[in-house]
Amino acid sequence: MSTSLAEKIKAIIRMNGPITVTDYFALCLADPEFGYYKTRDPFGHCGDFITAPEVSQLFGEMIGVFFVHAWQKHLMPRRAVCIAEIGPGRGTMMADILRVISKLAPDLYNLADVHLVETSPTLTGIQAETLVAHREKVHWHLSFDDIPDGFLLLVGNEFFDAVPIRQFVKTASGFRERLVGLDDNDELTFAVGVTGVDPSLLPSGHRHQPAGSVVELAPARSAIMQAIADGLFNSGGTALFLDYGYTQPGFGDTLQAVLKHTYDPPLAHPGEADLTSHVDFAALAEVAKARSVHVNGLMTQGDFLLRLGIAERARAGRRKSAPPSNVW
Ligand code: SAH
Repeated sequence: MSTSLAEKIKAIIRMNGPITVTDYFALCLADPEFGYYKTRDPFGHCGDFITAPEVSQLFGEMIGVFFVHAWQKHLMPRRAVCIAEIGPGRGTMMADILRVISKLAPDLYNLADVHLVETSPTLTGIQAETLVAHREKVHWHLSFDDIPDGFLLLVGNEFFDAVPIRQFVKTASGFRERLVGLDDNDELTFAVGVTGVDPSLLPSGHRHQPAGSVVELAPARSAIMQAIADGLFNSGGTALFLDYGYTQPGFGDTLQAVLKHTYDPPLAHPGEADLTSHVDFAALAEVAKARSVHVNGLMTQGDFLLRLGIAERARAGRRKSAPPSNVW
């Protein structure tokens, strides 16, 4: 029996040869026995990393304001509404969102059901505790496809960066898939395989990239975005994604591991460190546009929050000298 994910991955490589980066990424996060998100609650000072909703409740509250605006802009449809989140972590952001919606737009709150897409049993349990006040409304799903039809208000914060990518490395014979194999000391190491990539999928300028440069493609992210775009096209609604990423396709290795709030080499602690890579927002926008879903735009998180009025909200909270949860 394996004693750790590193041992399990090494055994797979010994048996079948090197695995792709995307398989390594998927095993690290989602291996049923040792996968990072399958086994732990990674958030907070005692965990590995901290996310915006865990830092300040204002973050989730502003998303609640955004959802109320979006519902109003769609002329307040009276049919079933799905307030949904994909990758909800500890459920903190959804609790902040629902508190604001119930105060600012009780009609929307009453109409809505809450749908959480989560693959981690550990985090599902924590979300149920965090959202106990709304338990009649909350439903969990393993995949976005399982969310029922209804006007959709969807958010994902630091979700897409946790969905595995493929990497290709420039070699003398073009871009080839990056693999994870074993070195002479039986340690995990990066290698380059023989699988190529359709040049039409590469960013412009790929012919002039130096040997060793890396390009990342994320078909698994596109597939999820496709399902979301189908939902928006069929049922109407708005989706908002916040993540580390870039707005123009480019070159570079963005695979990164974080362990106890410190960057860690991505192959050093499989299953023990969080593994992410930056999100190609332009690629996600293309998927949505191809399904005739309007893309409102791409902007920095700071601009988004400022335009929603976070500075005014923070000041109002301080003036009332009350806990910010009483602001709304
Ligand atoms: N949004 C939260 C958590 C971000 S971490 C926050 O900002 O604090 C990534 C989240 O996505 C975790 O909840 C993880 O369990 C979940 N996740 C990872 N892969 C997933 C998948 N394929 N489908 C649904 N959820 C996934």
